[in-house]
Amino acid sequence: PPSRLPKVGTTIFTVMSALAAEKGAVNLGQGFPDFNCDPALVEAVSNAMRDGMNQYPPMTGVPALRAAISQKIGALYGRHYDANSEITVTAGATQAILTAILCCLHPGEEAIVIEPAYDSYVPAIELAGGTPVFVQMELREAGYATPWDKVAAAVTGKTRLIIINSPHNPTGSVMREADIQALADIVRGTNILILSDEVYEHMVYDGARHESVCRHQELAERAFVVSSFGKTYHVTGWKIGYVAAPAALSAEFRKVHQFNVFTVNTPVQHGLAAYMGNPAPYLELAGFYQRKRDLFRDGLQSTRLRLLPSDGTYFQCVDYSAVSDLSEAEFSKWLTTEMGVAAIPVSAFYDDPRESGIVRFCFAKKDETLKQALDKLARL
Ligand code: PMP
Ligand code: GLN
Repeated sequence: PPSRLPKVGTTIFTVMSALAAEKGAVNLGQGFPDFNCDPALVEAVSNAMRDGMNQYPPMTGVPALRAAISQKIGALYGRHYDANSEITVTAGATQAILTAILCCLHPGEEAIVIEPAYDSYVPAIELAGGTPVFVQMELREAGYATPWDKVAAAVTGKTRLIIINSPHNPTGSVMREADIQALADIVRGTNILILSDEVYEHMVYDGARHESVCRHQELAERAFVVSSFGKTYHVTGWKIGYVAAPAALSAEFRKVHQFNVFTVNTPVQHGLAAYMGNPAPYLELAGFYQRKRDLFRDGLQSTRLRLLPSDGTYFQCVDYSAVSDLSEAEFSKWLTTEMGVAAIPVSAFYDDPRESGIVRFCFAKKDETLKQALDKLARL
């Protein structure tokens, strides 16, 4: 039968991780930490398993975890989400994104995607029968920025959804208050919904604050806000996250959720609920990663790679045009094979791949891993 996703192949993250493993390269490609999570978190999950928390939890998530999430969002961003009707625990942000898109986008409607974009958005839009409409970020002196005038111009009578992602994968750019205001101006008086992918919410550097959509009443009233415990607690393999959305949107979300996964891993939910009471791990995360960012950037200063800003996330983009005129995909392969360090081509985050001479490194690695990579990259 004809494919539902004819353009989709194996994701670039899988491809580059496989190549890194094959070549024995330091893997700064796929975004995941190469260090373990807090043993206290493992203990909390083990306790839940030992205590018999091993059967189906409620469809929307374990009440204690939903309450902890609501409490946290209230404390950090000042918006109250009702734990019963407005927060749903999901199998990672990926499932939250797919489910949010499936529950609100009707066939023939349009969703605006700002590129470069995380790779799961477009297939989700296509599975819903919707049409992605692309607007490209612009690379300015201060880094990648969203041209809101172009987003406004992309809105049509069919626009149902605008997807935003800050802090942003892959560019490491962060939306500021002015970005949020510009977005609010665009959607005011329309039926457009927002899907806000905030999985890197705790990785904003240099003293800036995360402009969660939850802070902004007007936007929050029409938004699905998605986050992931995988990023926050160094457990990307646990695949657990959540969506916060007003009751009416959450009700629609849950209609799809219950036939998508129905429920999410019980002991991990109990473990997280117990562990989340202590805010220190997420409050300290920006400092933890900023130090790694700076270590990595300092090491690259002496190379011909031009560092782009990394204001958030655990990604660092570099312009390699002084080193090579290979395409981004070819350069990433060459770097992995010949230099022993894997990276991700930023072109992979575009529907119509464009060459900017930029690749992405992930610095969520032990200092010794970063130093190993820097030793190898010093030859550039
Ligand atoms: N959105 C973005 C921007 C991401 O970088 C990731 C992590 N790969 C996800 C969503 C998916 O998160 P999860 O692993 O929780 O599904
Ligand atoms: N979010 C991770 C990245 O951008 C990878 C997740 C995945 O492998 N799908 O590298």
